[in-house]
Amino acid sequence: MRWQGLINRYGAALRIAQYVQPVTLCEGNTPLIPVPRLSTWIGGGAQVFVKYEGLNPTGSFKDRGMTTAITQAVAENAEAVICASTGNTSASAAAYAARAGLRCIVLIPDGKIALGKLAASVAYGAEVVSIRGSFDDGLNLVREIASTSPIVLVNSVNPARLEGQKTAAWEICEQLGAMPDRLCLPVGNAGNISAYWMGFSECSAGECPNTCGCREKRRPKLLGAQASGSAPIVLGRRIEQPETRATAIRIGNPARWKQAEQALQESGGHILAVTDEEIFEAYHALSRLEGVFCEPSSAAGVAGLRKSVQQGLVIEGETIVCVLTGHGLKDPDSATADVQPPITIDAKLEALKKHLKV
Ligand SMILES: *Cc1c(COP(=O)(O)O)cnc(C)c1O
Repeated sequence: MRWQGLINRYGAALRIAQYVQPVTLCEGNTPLIPVPRLSTWIGGGAQVFVKYEGLNPTGSFKDRGMTTAITQAVAENAEAVICASTGNTSASAAAYAARAGLRCIVLIPDGKIALGKLAASVAYGAEVVSIRGSFDDGLNLVREIASTSPIVLVNSVNPARLEGQKTAAWEICEQLGAMPDRLCLPVGNAGNISAYWMGFSECSAGECPNTCGCREKRRPKLLGAQASGSAPIVLGRRIEQPETRATAIRIGNPARWKQAEQALQESGGHILAVTDEEIFEAYHALSRLEGVFCEPSSAAGVAGLRKSVQQGLVIEGETIVCVLTGHGLKDPDSATADVQPPITIDAKLEALKKHLKV
């Protein structure tokens, strides 16, 4: 059977408004890839898998929440949707809005989003507004607009977003045939970590539509990672001027802060800060050791896992899933920033032999 997207697969188990036709780009069903060489690099005898969410239609996990949020917006007769974004939400909203024939307005922090994300939002025909301010400023603005006009807000404060995003937890259980012991992921606005916890909890309660044996009491421990320059949950206070090169998690006041803390606590997990240097080490390790190219923010979960192993916080032999939230091609500047540009030689065999020393 052709894969027809999340709502087709899981719709009956998602709490969204009654819809006629799902708005879908056949998102979801992303691969769970074993990464043995990365597992060795991480240490601690962990058996690590990565959930490669960058392979969703617009290159990030945001598509899972957008198929549900835009389907619901259409069911509610919306004419326009709006979001604030560090880039991936806007690309995803723009694509699904285009497919549904809705006007789409996105607010982005000036100069702080990766090139591929801006390119996508523009390509899908969204009205892109760049603001002199942070993501957090943008979110405050769009919340205001949505509460005083018929424009639907599609940030992850919209419950329909989490309904779609929780399906990633169900897929992981189905792909492993069991719950993982631990799930590692980057935390920005904290919608995704909240959605995963909902998903695993519903599996555990027998409320997910899978038949894979994930109806276990045991739920995975969550491991959240924030960038050290924008780690409000780790530090326990808002960050007015968040800073990190991992722009997708450059957020100082997460909308789902409380929910994420509760999920972390219920799971017996932890959240920690990783430096940009540690994030970029993990980013390069993923692509050079395993051929898996994600964007810098996505590597924060892997960096956080490695650090946790070094701190003795991870039990030997665990089955661990790291969520790679977005595709590496979103952020070409980060990929080329720390490397020498390729050297140019004459198009001659001798020159090539000399260069390759063969
Ligand atoms: C949105 C995003 C995150 C953060 O997810 P939250 O739900 O905001 O915590 C992490 N990585 C990438 C690539 C993202 O697009």
